[in-house]
Amino acid sequence: MTIMKHTLNIIGGGMAGSEAAWQAANAGVNVVIHEMRPKVETFAHRTGNLGEMVCSNSFRSDDHEQNAVGLLHWEMRAAGGLIMQMAEKHRLPAGGALAVDRDPFAESVTAALKSHPNITVSYDEITALPDDGHWIIATGPLTSGALAQAIQTETGAEALAFFDAIAPIVYHDSINMDIAWMQSRYDKGETIEEQTAYLNCPMTKAQYEAFIDALLAAEKTAFKEGETAGYFDGCLPIEVMAERGRETLRFGPMKPVGLTNAHDPDNKPYAVVQLRRDNALGTLYNIVGFQTKMKYGAQKDVFKTIPALEDAEFARLGGIHRNTFINSPTLLDDQMRLRSKPNIRFAGQITGVEGYVESAAMGLLAGRMAVAELAGRSLPSVPDTTAMGALVTHITGGAEAKTFQPMNVNFGLFPPVEGTKNGRRNRKTRYKAYTDRAKADWQAWLDQLA
Ligand SMILES: Cc1cc2nc3c(=O)[nH]c(=O)nc-3n(C[C@H](O)[C@H](O)[C@H](O)COP(=O)(O)OP(=O)(O)OC[C@H]3O[C@@H](n4cnc5c(N)ncnc54)[C@H](O)[C@@H]3O)c2cc1C
Repeated sequence: MTIMKHTLNIIGGGMAGSEAAWQAANAGVNVVIHEMRPKVETFAHRTGNLGEMVCSNSFRSDDHEQNAVGLLHWEMRAAGGLIMQMAEKHRLPAGGALAVDRDPFAESVTAALKSHPNITVSYDEITALPDDGHWIIATGPLTSGALAQAIQTETGAEALAFFDAIAPIVYHDSINMDIAWMQSRYDKGETIEEQTAYLNCPMTKAQYEAFIDALLAAEKTAFKEGETAGYFDGCLPIEVMAERGRETLRFGPMKPVGLTNAHDPDNKPYAVVQLRRDNALGTLYNIVGFQTKMKYGAQKDVFKTIPALEDAEFARLGGIHRNTFINSPTLLDDQMRLRSKPNIRFAGQITGVEGYVESAAMGLLAGRMAVAELAGRSLPSVPDTTAMGALVTHITGGAEAKTFQPMNVNFGLFPPVEGTKNGRRNRKTRYKAYTDRAKADWQAWLDQLA
């Protein structure tokens, strides 16, 4: 089968769609990118360029030895990624971060794609799910209303979200288990695992009152214009709950009922903060019901006042944003195809990753998966020891489907490296071991494709 005979249609020419197109076109596939801008605008984009950065001009840390996002940069560079290549070309001085001159960056991405002999750009909005042909949907957090509606009709209302409600996620090994204990409310569940599914942090009255004061005083982020419609559906930020009354949280996510402090059974906690496992590996825990619009610095200060979280390290902080994303763990197979319509793949932020880099990375993989399929093969699974593999494994199965929320790449998604020690003091050696292993495994995976 020759792959040139086929056309791969990509909806959305943002970070993911641009990278997917580049990968597929370089492998000899004819690609059509369908981009609705500038005909149809979003509240965040300003231009008709492909690869436009909607907000910050940073691809975050470029440290590929100590940082998971820097490692993702490294992996994308090794795979000939367009986004990284153009970011390098338009790099601005920013310490250890990869910041870029945004307009020339997006203009270069656009020019590279439009001048590629295998790529056509069609400026149209796609409003329905195609029944045949090969497609990648990479329409991002601001997917147009008509297409979102079509996706929802196919997947069911519960499986497509229009806002994220991200509770902070903590590395399990940074939680003080001399204070916290494992127990589900009223010991609910059939198995011991279910009866001890939650990690509980007890608070005295004084600690609760101080926590509420800190919440109310903390600096908050405002919504952008056009961003808010419909957000109050079931995802109230904790600070808004606290504003409604000092006791609201104690009757909501912090209620102490049905729980007995295993370290101090005779003392009833005044309030309890609960954390729930966030990935199959058990390395990450989210703070239940703690979605927030507090600024990142303030979140760290406030959450570290919770007993057992004094030394907490956060894999990600909380947030609430306008964000269209699907429940990938239930809807996608391991080749990122929609189970119910396998002629369609999803890529980018709509799959439930978060950020320019992660979105481009999922575009890179989806593009390569489409190429493999057109050539009559399956792309060999990406080792979950790599940043790319850890992310795709998370969204297509590793994450808890019931509480699925968008995820940044972080070392908590990686299987631990044997022989490395937990704790802050050993962090440098541990992260270096993760990135060394990832680089070797990613290179071996790429070599296998060559
Ligand atoms: C307000 C806001 C601020 C953000 N700030 C940051 C930040 O500072 N840093 C960061 O890393 N991430 C940020 N993000 C997330 C960021 O948008 C994504 O990480 C990244 O752009 C996602 O890449 P993507 O390719 O999935 O989507 P996008 O880059 O958004 O690309 C999707 C493309 O699809 C097009 N499209 C949508 N619907 C259709 C349709 N029906 N037919 C045809 N084309 C369509 C859109 O016009 C767009 O060009 C922000 C998001 C928002 C909404």
